[in-house]
Amino acid sequence: MIIIVKKEREEKQLNNLIKWIKGQGLEVDISNGHHSTVLGLVGDTSKIDIDLVRSLDIVENVKRIQEPFKCANRKFHPDDTIVEVGGHKFGGDNFQIIAGPCSVENEKQIVEVAKAVKKAGATILRGGAYKPRTSPYAFQGLREAGLDLLLRAKQETGMPIVTEIMSASHIDLFKDVDIIQIGARDMQNFELLKEVGKTKKPVLLKRGLANTIQEWLMSAEYIMSEGGKDIILCERGIRTFEPYTRNTLDLSAIPLLKELTHLPVVVDPSHASGLSRLVKPLSLASVGAGAHGLMIEVHNDPKNALCDGAQSIVPEQFEDIVKSIDVMLPIVNKKRDL
Ligand code: PEP
Ligand code: MN
Repeated sequence: MIIIVKKEREEKQLNNLIKWIKGQGLEVDISNGHHSTVLGLVGDTSKIDIDLVRSLDIVENVKRIQEPFKCANRKFHPDDTIVEVGGHKFGGDNFQIIAGPCSVENEKQIVEVAKAVKKAGATILRGGAYKPRTSPYAFQGLREAGLDLLLRAKQETGMPIVTEIMSASHIDLFKDVDIIQIGARDMQNFELLKEVGKTKKPVLLKRGLANTIQEWLMSAEYIMSEGGKDIILCERGIRTFEPYTRNTLDLSAIPLLKELTHLPVVVDPSHASGLSRLVKPLSLASVGAGAHGLMIEVHNDPKNALCDGAQSIVPEQFEDIVKSIDVMLPIVNKKRDL
């Protein structure tokens, strides 16, 4: 349920209303937007008398939210949520580029790639330490040592880092990680979502391999219900019948999500296609569709990469993509951090 509060009101009236709602055993999310103040009620609102609330002096309107996702709903929070990470903003008219290798392999690799992508325009460094691999015999990531190397690259370049968590038992190891990534395979690992939500850290929530947009937003809701408000959604392609590409990039998810939710949306064209030569066209298509950013896999030696070499581009190709993005950004009214 949401309560839209009149612009002309006394703060005391508003505070009394909030106190009354909390007294009914509900949580209140307050969104002070440009046009109105919206109170989002979280919890079982079935006992609230809508007519009584509507009759209050300071109330403009009361609506029940039909969708099962509440905190993530655009109706709860009409303005875009801005997720700020190390001074870089996701959401609104901001555009961020996350780049780096699929996996952290050694110090030289991660530091070299970090410096190259930073120079070309990336603001956040990615790199997997814990890798979700289909085969238990494939490279599993450097794990804790990988996190240390990522922190080393962060120190060297000043770039905030994003890396995937696969188990709630690792949360303490992620205390210096700037954005915790929930991978496609864990999008519905609800216990992990709840634990990550409790950390209140920014989260990059990837779409599951075969999940609907509503299921994805319900996963965001799990994180938000534990107090994690800073969520960046990442479309990374979904499973379809098409075998030429690793996944199929769902471009329509971008404008749809912008209607349904206030959370920022970025696109990962690398996992979406699985092919390095498709990374540029899919990146530009995502910019055109209104994405708030991109996450791109970049490797200094893709042929010898320990994971996802076929979809990794080299720093020179990354630089070329950023140049084209810069031509497009004014058309979609976005600006990139320099
Ligand atoms: C990744 O970003 O490294 C990754 C494993 O992606 P996804 O979870 O989308 O497959
Ligand atoms: Mn990868």
